[in-house]
Amino acid sequence: MRRQPLPRQVDARKLTSTDVELSGIQPVSDFPRFAAGLCDERGDVDVKMHFYRDDSSIHRISATLATDVFVVCQRCLKAMPISISSQFELGIVWTEAQAKALPRELDSVILGEEPLDLFPLIEDELIIETPFTNYHPPGECQPAGPVKYGEEPEGAEERDNPFAVLKDLKSSD
Ligand SMILES: [Zn+2]
Repeated sequence: MRRQPLPRQVDARKLTSTDVELSGIQPVSDFPRFAAGLCDERGDVDVKMHFYRDDSSIHRISATLATDVFVVCQRCLKAMPISISSQFELGIVWTEAQAKALPRELDSVILGEEPLDLFPLIEDELIIETPFTNYHPPGECQPAGPVKYGEEPEGAEERDNPFAVLKDLKSSD
């Protein structure tokens, strides 16, 4: 098995045929849809993806992901650390019929002529593994700060400032 850094796109058929492990430590900011559900973009994702053909000649990816990130506690609305880890198995196929014939434990990836984009695959898995609601353990919530969300001062100055209108337009899309 050869080891290589994690590229964004790969020739999956070639990699599975030659038995390659890709690995990388990717910043959370590489996965914007995942980062959007977090408190901020702190953290890295440790990615390992093994491309190989199994005993039944199925083209497979065995992947593990691990990351420590910050989410928002639903009780105190402050950051809280969580660890996310995942192990998943993908079967690479070229037709719907091949996808249906895969063993149940494999999720299918149907390839076309294009190279396989790895980052969306990783990102989807990270999102699935992120808990929907998060709470600090009892008694560990952070005290509220002096300025609460939604209490920004609404001065006349800002209303008269044309840039304030622009800002509103920008933030509404
Ligand atoms: Zn809390």
